[in-house]
Amino acid sequence: MNNQLQQKEDIRNLSYEEVVQYLNKIQEKSFRATQIFEWIYQKNVWSFEQMKNLSKDLRERLMQDFILRPFEIAKKEISQDGTTKFLFELIDQEQVESVLIPTASRTTVCVSTQVGCKFGCKFCASGIGGWNRNLTTAEIVTQIMHVKDEAQKHAQPLSHIVFMGIGEPLDNYDNLVKAIRIINDKKAINIGARRITVSTCGVIPKILQLGQEGIQIELAISLHGYDNESRNVLMPVNKKYPFSDLIEACKQYQKNYRRQITFEYILIKDITCSTKALTSLKKSFKGLICKMNLIPYNPVSEFDHKTPTRQEMYQFRDQLKDFGIHATIRAPRGKDINSACGQLRRSIK
Ligand code: SAH
Repeated sequence: MNNQLQQKEDIRNLSYEEVVQYLNKIQEKSFRATQIFEWIYQKNVWSFEQMKNLSKDLRERLMQDFILRPFEIAKKEISQDGTTKFLFELIDQEQVESVLIPTASRTTVCVSTQVGCKFGCKFCASGIGGWNRNLTTAEIVTQIMHVKDEAQKHAQPLSHIVFMGIGEPLDNYDNLVKAIRIINDKKAINIGARRITVSTCGVIPKILQLGQEGIQIELAISLHGYDNESRNVLMPVNKKYPFSDLIEACKQYQKNYRRQITFEYILIKDITCSTKALTSLKKSFKGLICKMNLIPYNPVSEFDHKTPTRQEMYQFRDQLKDFGIHATIRAPRGKDINSACGQLRRSIK
């Protein structure tokens, strides 16, 4: 059964234009593509049978050629703060996590892009079990459709998407960009580009490529180190794409595409939250207009870092602000269910 299913293409791997091409090939009208997209992405149906305005023949043909099925929801946990974490089981029994994060002003989905992660940052749970494979475009958007279902139950329309779940989005570039186009498409999930954030550990060539795609999404850089040496220790990717090259690439990105960059910077006691770090950041950030999201280190049992005290974190933020760097401290969400930043992991059975 599984093999058979795996041989059929998931229709959510197709862009709108590809659905039109398929319909033309089977001598159906192009406007059917809009109807199909509406059923899948706006009316949230999970089977072709439910697409009532398509002819029976077309529904049967779609069933023959494609799959459209939900994930198994292996686990759903709800935090005291309303954050909901899903553990989804994929067709090959691999698992990934996604998170629904409701706040007063927005409803965000945090999406995974890979099964596991290759990058092995020395503070993040996602890399601990290693990397297994990329998610397909369909698997990326299906996470969002499940979370959308849940959000709608609570009358919360989804407003934002962040690619901050398991994996490195820019290491799965083609599937990511295709998924972003579906998320952004008015006929599909219809979330504005400025409400979509891609977070990267710093894969420079792909950052520059993303800037040329002509989609005005937000870019977040996981910086975390304050100079080359500290970043080498915390993030092995820095050996390939060093700190100063990354800062240069960000300056170039900003100049070329006139987009503001957000840096994510983890606050680890005595390491990244220190006077040495502050002095170094001030030097590197000269001439860069950016926002800095300070993320208090969320405990991961395999690492023995410590979270700074509130006072230390506020002081660090204020000193950055005095220097003209717009910094805010990100409130951790869903910590009680291990769904805060860096706590998502590939569960290994
Ligand atoms: N690979 C991408 C997407 C993951 S985003 C990236 O690195 O940007 C997840 C965010 O949470 C990243 O900024 C990551 O560095 C951060 N993070 C990882 N572990 C963390 C931890 N223990 N505490 C706080 N933030 C963490």
